[in-house]
Amino acid sequence: MNIVLLGAPGAGKGTQAQKLVEEFGFAHISTGDLLRAAVSAKTKLGIQAKSYMDAGKLVPDDLVISLVKERLDADDAKNGFILDGFPRNTAQAVTLDSELAAMDRRLDAALLVSVEPDVIVKRLSSRRTCRNCGYTAPAGVDVCPRCGGEMYQRDDDKPETIQHRLDVYNTQTAPLIEYYKGHSILKEVDGDRPVDEVYADVRKLLSLAC
Ligand code: AMP
Repeated sequence: MNIVLLGAPGAGKGTQAQKLVEEFGFAHISTGDLLRAAVSAKTKLGIQAKSYMDAGKLVPDDLVISLVKERLDADDAKNGFILDGFPRNTAQAVTLDSELAAMDRRLDAALLVSVEPDVIVKRLSSRRTCRNCGYTAPAGVDVCPRCGGEMYQRDDDKPETIQHRLDVYNTQTAPLIEYYKGHSILKEVDGDRPVDEVYADVRKLLSLAC
């Protein structure tokens, strides 16, 4: 099954993706994680992407698309993937459709995790992320419960950048809701509930429940 996750930053896409990956073995393709790894490794792409990310802006399409293409070609993505944080605008969505068509593949679902903006602001400003594996938890958790790595506050989770990221989401990414409705693959889940309740609905919506 090939799935795109939609929703504002902090809606819980990564958490739901992780649960689907653990249970069903899909490849998790998070462009934010791929870009942060490139920034840490100081690759050419990472150096180009860093200033956009720190400012809460979208990294130019050509850079992100090349990362995603490479990842879709990897063996583990051939039996199903979850795209988390991609596409972020209509140009990326159109490119994704044509890349998949060229590989004789297609998207099965676009899952929108919906959360009200005031909840998002609270979640993001108290979010801490593992430097090592990307696991997220609320402030106060200093050691990653999954891998023991150091938890830190992402630069773009600081209050001055959060509002900008939400504006970018509303203007550039939210139109994808209509795009995927038009393709009859949009499914929506209320993300403002405990993680396991959201996940139970996600499984049902994706017809993955036993
Ligand atoms: P995320 O972890 O998904 O919130 O992404 C963190 C940052 O990485 C974003 O604010 C953007 O700067 C960049 N980014 C992630 N995915 C994309 C994408 N599909 N297109 C452009 N920039 C992206």
